[in-house]
Amino acid sequence: MEVRNCKGCGRLFNYVSGVSYTNLCPKCIEELEEKFQAAKKYIEEHKGAGVSEVAEAVDVKVSQIQRWVREERLCFSEESAVMIDCERCGAMIRSGRYCDECKNIMARSFGSLYSTNTYQAQKTNKGSAEGKARFIGK
Ligand SMILES: [Zn+2]
Ligand SMILES: [Zn+2]
Repeated sequence: MEVRNCKGCGRLFNYVSGVSYTNLCPKCIEELEEKFQAAKKYIEEHKGAGVSEVAEAVDVKVSQIQRWVREERLCFSEESAVMIDCERCGAMIRSGRYCDECKNIMARSFGSLYSTNTYQAQKTNKGSAEGKARFIGK
């Protein structure tokens, strides 16, 4: 156990490795969790709300909202214009860390097991398309 300075309020707190998961004291973690719930609720009630609006409404930094989005804890609705940028190429996305394209590229680089699956999926798709064409032809 060690004593650390809380990043949120600056007070010293007992940091327990494996139990304390951030540089925040238990009180600040609790407050942050409350704000997270408030932000979630705010987005549900104000579907078109933007990041800065939500941040202001629940009194957190914009970067904190974006962090929740990256952690996929917070998700803005389809109507909302809120976007964050893909960490790999900078494309605008709604949640997570990477856009679909980068996810695909990264998945492909995982190796042959995945590419075999993709190949089979394509084959299956092609098969069903042909089946449909035949059906229409009759
Ligand atoms: Zn604190
Ligand atoms: Zn990307």
